Amino acid sequence: MIKKYYPYEYVKSVFAIDYKKLWELGFRGIIFDVDNTLVHHGDNSNPKVDRFFEKLHRMGFRTCLLSDNERSRVERFNKNINTLYICDADKPDPQGYEKAMQLMGTYRTDTVCIGDQIITDIHGANNSGIPSILVHFIKLPGEKKIGIRRYFEFFVMWTWKHRKKYRYRLGDIRRKK
Ligand SMILES: [Mg+2]
Repeated sequence: MIKKYYPYEYVKSVFAIDYKKLWELGFRGIIFDVDNTLVHHGDNSNPKVDRFFEKLHRMGFRTCLLSDNERSRVERFNKNINTLYICDADKPDPQGYEKAMQLMGTYRTDTVCIGDQIITDIHGANNSGIPSILVHFIKLPGEKKIGIRRYFEFFVMWTWKHRKKYRYRLGDIRRKK
């Protein structure tokens, strides 16, 4: 069934989400994918991302990075952020999501997952019974080559866009300009 790939919401980037709204909706824990969600694949964190996490933590959110990448990569990214993390997560296996909730002390009902890949991040969140927000994958200017998985994702999202009941399941969580 294709709906196992459907996110609750689709936005341009992690910065396009109204986190105050998420808090008001009762969310307390956020699981973040790293590569192409927070930074371009393999990049270190940067001041904008560091400040972003500082802000979330000040608001009271618990956060956990959930990455299929190896420890050294995730630790390098996390150096200035200092949040909880899980590496070698093997998404969409729900185990990593369960562990992330355990680490954050949150539950299915107050945890949301944010990532750029339907087959791993979103499918895994659905497998774990938690809401998810798909973000458009980070691309470098001029970068043309995309993986074959992206074509499957375009197809999934095309069907998602035409099925009203699966869209905007978190209400209006887009940040107003
Ligand atoms: Mg990713």
